[in-house]
Order: sequence, then structure tokens, then C-alpha cells
Amino acid sequence: MTNSPSSLAVLTVPAFKDNYLWLIHDGLHAAAVDPGDAQPILDALRANGLTLTAILLTHHHADHIGGVPQLLAEYNVPVFGPRNDGIAEVTHPLSEGDRVQVPGLALELAVLDVPGHTRGHIAYFRDEQGNPSGTHWLFCGDTLFGAGCGRLFEGTPEQMAASLAKLAALPDDTLVFCAHEYTLSNLRFAEAVEPGNQALQLRLAADSKARGTNLPTIPSNIAIEKATNPFLRTTEPGIVASLVAAGRLQPGATPVAVFAALREWKNVF
Ligand SMILES: [Zn+2]
Repeated sequence: MTNSPSSLAVLTVPAFKDNYLWLIHDGLHAAAVDPGDAQPILDALRANGLTLTAILLTHHHADHIGGVPQLLAEYNVPVFGPRNDGIAEVTHPLSEGDRVQVPGLALELAVLDVPGHTRGHIAYFRDEQGNPSGTHWLFCGDTLFGAGCGRLFEGTPEQMAASLAKLAALPDDTLVFCAHEYTLSNLRFAEAVEPGNQALQLRLAADSKARGTNLPTIPSNIAIEKATNPFLRTTEPGIVASLVAAGRLQPGATPVAVFAALREWKNVF
């Protein structure tokens, strides 16, 4: 049987309790995004007749990089990753403004610095440049989640708010491939802080139904996130009012203070 490359697709590879690893492929070659565990990636490659040609990393946490050594033992491929996040296996360090020609695939990705969850966290964005007919894709690790955002392990609220604003400014149709299935838990928090949001109610119904049959809620897209994700809605009067009513914010606070108060509340919600 001979395989010939077709258009690009993204394969969802569940791992651990609630991680998603991603395989971007053309039916022949594949790039693994954040392979925290090697075995699910190796199984998916074999099941789909794919050869690994690259590894793309967003940040240094073990559930995003843990599978790299075993994958490298089987496939001698370049490892793209953040310049400033302390990952020993990275062979092609990246930061804002860099572009990746993904080996083996007709795919070019723009690199965005999105510090906050970790100091050097990056995201990969498939834009028009080098991808004339492709849809917009975002691989954002643990920065933006479905209806939520990553915890601030190494960065400040200012950094994370700026990183999320950068992602929110991407085109509405950008598919958001984040690294965890946290959407329902995030939506329950979002509902508590913005109970009058109709788009949020619709999303909660749709995503609850999806999870009820074990389907992923990811990818979402930037339009859905802007309409329902409280961490992208820090100027909404209803959200500010909820925080003030909960005694978590002073009236007249800045959007960064609103973001920080939301993040702190979610941490204990
Ligand atoms: Zn992480």
C-alpha cells in the first residue's frame, strides 16, 4: 500500500486523566504537540500509519514533555520548544516572532510568547503565511483553556492577562487546541461569576452533552472563548459586579486586578 500526503488534520490523543496530546498529520507524517506520555502517541502513530517527523513543546511541565525521550529513542526528530523554559531536549529553541517550518508537513506556524503559567511558555499559531488555504489553529498548552486559563505557577497576573489578550486578538475562527479537558469545571465557575450570559448557558448545555458521551469539548474557537470565558471578559460589568459582591474586588479596579481576582477565586472554587 502506498500512502500519499493529503490535507492536514489534527488527531486528538487523550492521555493521563484529562490531558490532550495532539498529532498534526497529513496521512503520512505527523508532528506531536506536548507529548507528555509516549505510549499513546506511539499507539496513535501505528494505528494511523503515521511517521513522526517533529515534536512541538509549549512549556516544561512533565505532563507535556515526559514522553519526549522515549519518542526520540524511536524517532530521530527535531524538538521545537520554548527558548526560556529550561527544557533540555529542545533542539530548536523558539520565541515570539519565530516561525516553524514543520518538518515533513506542509505547515508553517508562528510562535507567540505567552508567559504566565510558566515563565517561558509559548504557543503555536497557524496563520495565513505559508498556509494559504488552511484554517487557523492555535496550540496553546496550559495558557488558554476551554472557558478558563492555566494557573499562574511562575508568572504574574499582568503577564498572564497580556498573554490571554494576545490570544483573544487572534481571528474568531481560530480553533483552540489546549492541553486539558477542563471545560465543564471551568464553565461551572464561569456560570457562577456571570449567570446572565446566554452564550455561556448554551455552551454549558452543548459541552455537558458532549462529555456525557465522552466526546472532547476541545477544540473550541476564539469566538466561543471571547463570548464565554470569564478570563477574556474582565471588562464585563456583570463579572466585575460578581467579584465585588463576593468581596473579592474593590469597585473601579483595573482589568488586570479583575483577572487576578478571578484567578484567585477559581483556585478555591
Ligand atoms: Zn503546565
